[in-house]
Amino acid sequence: MAEEKSNLEDELTFSIKNAWEQSDEEELDDITEFAEKYKEYITESKTEREIIDNTVKLLEKNGFVSIHECDGLDQGDKIYILNKNKAIAVAVIGNKEVTEGCHILASHIDSPRLDLKARPIYEDNDASLALFNTHYYGGIKKYQWVSTPLAIHGKVVKEDGEIIDISIGEDKEDPVFAVSDLLPHLSKKKQSERKMKDVIKGEELNVILGGKPIDDDDIDKKVKINILKILNDNYGIKEEDFTSAEIEIVPSGPARDVGLDRSMVGGYGHDDRVCAFTSLMACIDLEPQSKTSLVFLFDKEEIGSEGNTSANSRFTESVFQQILAKSKGDYSMEDYRLTLENSNAMSGDVNPGVNPSFKGVHDLRNAGRMGKGIVLTKYTGSGGKFMANDAHAEYVAYIRRILNENDICWQTAQLGKVDEGGGGTVAKFLANLNMDIIDAGPPLLGMHSPFEIVSKVDIYHTYKAYRAFLEAE
Ligand code: MN
Ligand code: MN
Repeated sequence: MAEEKSNLEDELTFSIKNAWEQSDEEELDDITEFAEKYKEYITESKTEREIIDNTVKLLEKNGFVSIHECDGLDQGDKIYILNKNKAIAVAVIGNKEVTEGCHILASHIDSPRLDLKARPIYEDNDASLALFNTHYYGGIKKYQWVSTPLAIHGKVVKEDGEIIDISIGEDKEDPVFAVSDLLPHLSKKKQSERKMKDVIKGEELNVILGGKPIDDDDIDKKVKINILKILNDNYGIKEEDFTSAEIEIVPSGPARDVGLDRSMVGGYGHDDRVCAFTSLMACIDLEPQSKTSLVFLFDKEEIGSEGNTSANSRFTESVFQQILAKSKGDYSMEDYRLTLENSNAMSGDVNPGVNPSFKGVHDLRNAGRMGKGIVLTKYTGSGGKFMANDAHAEYVAYIRRILNENDICWQTAQLGKVDEGGGGTVAKFLANLNMDIIDAGPPLLGMHSPFEIVSKVDIYHTYKAYRAFLEAE
């Protein structure tokens, strides 16, 4: 009787498996090896521009060329299309006509951080320090960015167009930077009574640059001028050059293994570079496929997909138009319409894993868990599904079939309890072009913090899922 009951239970219930337990020795090695490559990728790339630079290197090493180098496009051709060095589309042309649709993976490569103001450097006489004024980018919990080593990455464009690359705070020999917190001895009145979002306020996110005055009695702001002199000596820049610069303050240091069992990776920017890397590798490792594979890495998702490098820009459409033009020559509006509506997509973005100390925010039956594979999110949005992408049931069934046929561990989740909060991804912008799309990516702990955590087995199953999708009929 007991046995019969358990068979029926197996047959009828949707059980989500622990992905580690589904892996044999060989796959466990593949998981570790893949995680090493991923750690290297995110350690080397801390800004959207650095991601693009390293992605182009990776692509060219694997036989991809810029679309501008191609007179036409044929089956098997591997190309990329850059947009302002902050977004990229990567394609492998399939056997079928482009008008029969593409399989698309879309993710974003911008991550929350501190940006500089246009006139950032100042000297605080009372503190005898020179500092950077910042304006945070994306949804950060500001208190997480104090008392932790920070690095400076970015570009300064001089008036004559010369571009100066800056990266300080990653090499062991480099100095690092920091926002200092108030000592507990003195925080009782000024800080302890503040609400969480104001524990550190936006205008208090000031980054310490230096504290040594220049040896010149005729100078008033001695510490600031000393910093400007160091910058001028090393990079040939002056204060006005910061008005045409994009400098990002990010956590310093490499991605590292987390846990005695080394089952996880901790680092900055898993959201959403873990989906960017897995979708790129899926496209690079692809076996010959029937439909054209297309991978988008977008910018500006963290601030609502605004501007001409985001998913909500004409860049998305121009990629289809460029591929059509190069593969068909003259194409009609009908060709363009068919290409869009015959395409389907997975929106690669991360999900919250169940937080062991704050379970109350999750609906535990509809929450992602670390180590249980890629998370499918049928709909996003908040409070009555506002601003959601809601994948059609037919499409979810199609994706579910691909995952099951390829032994991929997957789970389902919504962002949290109903009315607890919410959020969106790039999915809705591609859905607006009339293609089917669903959100799918690994669960994270500490999303948007300087040290996010992802499970190695979830990274691997995300890669396998993306690859199986691109290779599907
Ligand atoms: Mn994201
Ligand atoms: Mn995010």
